[in-house]
Amino acid sequence: MDISIVIPLYNEEESLPELAAWIDKVCTQHAYSYEMIFVNDGSTDASWAVIQGLATQYVSKIRAICFGRNYGKSAALYCGFEAAQGEVVISMDADLQDSPDEIPALYKMIVDEGYDLVSGWKKKRYDPLGKRLPSKLFNATARVVTGISLHDFNCGLKAYRRKVVKNIEVYGEMHRYIPVLAKQAGFKRIGEHVVQHQARKYGVSKFGWERLLNGFFDLLTVVFISKFAKKPMHFFGVLGLLMFFIGLSMAIYLGVNKIISLSTDTPATLITNSPYFYIGLTAMIIGTVLFLAGYLGELISRNSTERNTYLIDEKI
Ligand code: UDP
Ligand code: MG
Repeated sequence: MDISIVIPLYNEEESLPELAAWIDKVCTQHAYSYEMIFVNDGSTDASWAVIQGLATQYVSKIRAICFGRNYGKSAALYCGFEAAQGEVVISMDADLQDSPDEIPALYKMIVDEGYDLVSGWKKKRYDPLGKRLPSKLFNATARVVTGISLHDFNCGLKAYRRKVVKNIEVYGEMHRYIPVLAKQAGFKRIGEHVVQHQARKYGVSKFGWERLLNGFFDLLTVVFISKFAKKPMHFFGVLGLLMFFIGLSMAIYLGVNKIISLSTDTPATLITNSPYFYIGLTAMIIGTVLFLAGYLGELISRNSTERNTYLIDEKI
């Protein structure tokens, strides 16, 4: 199979028939063998019924997964990626904001130009300003922190070589950082392609203002995980030891001072009168705790198992 198109959706009943017809038109025109994989992320509208109808209309071109509840876009992508069989896997939002007309260009970049991952870039965006500005800030930060020079990390329209999606684990809200996950998994050829973008035709956006906050925390997580997940001691242990020795040297200073003044018969002040006593004490405690955190982290990372277990109601 040439292409798997993975479409996560949450309450997008109005868009689905149009989207399926458009994808089918483009792929038939280019004579691709393809499958659409709809992942219904716990929709509360008629989305699943619509998909069942589409499955009888586009026989053997549609596969679909129906979650028992809303797990989020990352979970939906994860399960869609797991099911994908195509040589090239393309993820696309269900709300018609991403254009299926981009499929051939993305496919070519993977197959002919040797990219592992090609991310869409909504150069001209049709979203409210309140969403475009934070997004600019977010992308700039992500570029600096991750060292990947993409303009639009969070673009829903992306193409992957199959082995990429089989080797990354998209969980939590990590769909914003798939290029980072891919880079961590060892896929270096990450490209960008300017794509057409449209205003939302039906329904409403599923992400509110929290996306900014969540986005930045996830960025921290991604960077942290990439640097220290497999070796927490390198962060906590080092910091802990440093703190502990700062504290210890203060304690030694106080102790030596006390001994000197005792042996020379000069009046010695109480150790607890010195601020160094309290700073040193605190530093040693914090140092021990940090070290412990690192040690526990090491134990946990040695024992970590699968994170992705989702309740799947039905499959086509
Ligand atoms: N989506 C999803 N689960 C969710 C939220 C969103 O599967 O919990 C899907 C949604 O149906 C759409 C895509 O993810 O196909 C992008 O969502 P949306 O268009 O609301 O995001 P925006 O365009 O506002 O960034
Ligand atoms: Mg959208």
